[in-house]
Amino acid sequence: MASAPTVVVGAGPAGLAAAAMLRRAGVDVLVLERGDRPGASWRGQYRSLRLHTVRSLSALPGAPLPRSYGRWVAGTDFLAYLEGYAARERLEIRTGTAVRRVDADEAGLVLASDAGPITAAAVVIATGYNREPVVPEWADGRVVHSSGYRDAEPYRGRAVLVIGAGNSGSDIALDLARGGARRVWVSVRTPPGLVPRQALGLSAQVAAIPLARAPRRLGDAIAALERRLFLGDLAAHGLGAGGDGVFTRHARRCALPTLDHGFARAVRAGSIAVVPAVEAIAGEEVVLRGGGCLRPDAIVAATGYRPALAPLAGHLGVLGPDGLPLHHGGAVHPAAPGLHFTGFRNPITGALRELRFEARAIAAARRDG
Ligand SMILES: Cc1cc2nc3c(=O)[nH]c(=O)nc-3n(C[C@H](O)[C@H](O)[C@H](O)COP(=O)(O)OP(=O)(O)OC[C@H]3O[C@@H](n4cnc5c(N)ncnc54)[C@H](O)[C@@H]3O)c2cc1C
Repeated sequence: MASAPTVVVGAGPAGLAAAAMLRRAGVDVLVLERGDRPGASWRGQYRSLRLHTVRSLSALPGAPLPRSYGRWVAGTDFLAYLEGYAARERLEIRTGTAVRRVDADEAGLVLASDAGPITAAAVVIATGYNREPVVPEWADGRVVHSSGYRDAEPYRGRAVLVIGAGNSGSDIALDLARGGARRVWVSVRTPPGLVPRQALGLSAQVAAIPLARAPRRLGDAIAALERRLFLGDLAAHGLGAGGDGVFTRHARRCALPTLDHGFARAVRAGSIAVVPAVEAIAGEEVVLRGGGCLRPDAIVAATGYRPALAPLAGHLGVLGPDGLPLHHGGAVHPAAPGLHFTGFRNPITGALRELRFEARAIAAARRDG
């Protein structure tokens, strides 16, 4: 009887990278993907999306991104690259197969999937840090989550409120302002840690690599200086620079900086107006903290995502109180020694860059294990 394969759950960048490295290490590997093709979470993204991490530090292991994609790779090009990667690495991917739960028994690990139970020698969960959209509890039927926003066309001539000024919120606000929306407001609860995506030819990501290992105060001070020099003082426009620095926010709350490539200029020019946090929606009106009101024609909630790992693996005792895995990459929890997680760290140095290290560590652990 053939032995059970190692099963990778999710055919996004993390799952594809882990599967490719496992296969290259001689491990029999099967990928299960709930979508109908690899890279499902990149297929639905907004059309103007470009990576905020540089091309050379965003590729999957063993396959550089083509130079013709430029420094800031378009989301559509990245998706084509992911599909090419899956084919080139000759990965066996079973699409349309969602995994509901992983259980451990004496024989190994068993996955409850749409296609029935599947026994695995080992499992790599790569279902994404950004698996489920987070929608505010006051949202009504008018509110579109950023994962459902494609381009500015349906918003042409309309007044749009974007909620959140993280990377998706600031990108979408800029897309709307450039794409003919009549009015663009961005509602901000906590002013984002804004950093220029690139300054004097150096990308924020490349600068973050040594700074992530330096004392936090140094990283915070350099990021604050860059902001002052290249983006200026936006306090009068509702984007103060107070509070924790960029590296401290990441260490305390895992919050990534908003990488600026035109948002600050649009705010200063008045084509994007910053408003306080939303407290409620009352009919046509949106009530803001402090008592103000707006009457937008449309609302886009760029309010982030959650990994939603608890139903899959929470019962195995492998998740921390924050719902994230206690072990990553090659390291495993003693309660489930065949169960790996990849893609759940959200590093300030770039998620895609981190996946390579985790993929290689998983392959080494399974080859030697
Ligand atoms: C808009 C956006 C832009 C980003 N830009 C960058 C960037 O510029 N640079 C960077 O380094 N990082 C970026 N990231 C962060 C990160 O690199 C990406 O989210 C990346 O796609 C993470 O890869 P992943 O494989 O971990 O997750 P995903 O790409 O989300 O892939 C997870 C896969 O698992 C599948 N899946 C989920 N649940 C199940 C299940 N139960 N059963 C079977 N399959 C399942 C999904 O369909 C999906 O295909 C960005 C994230 C977002 C949301």
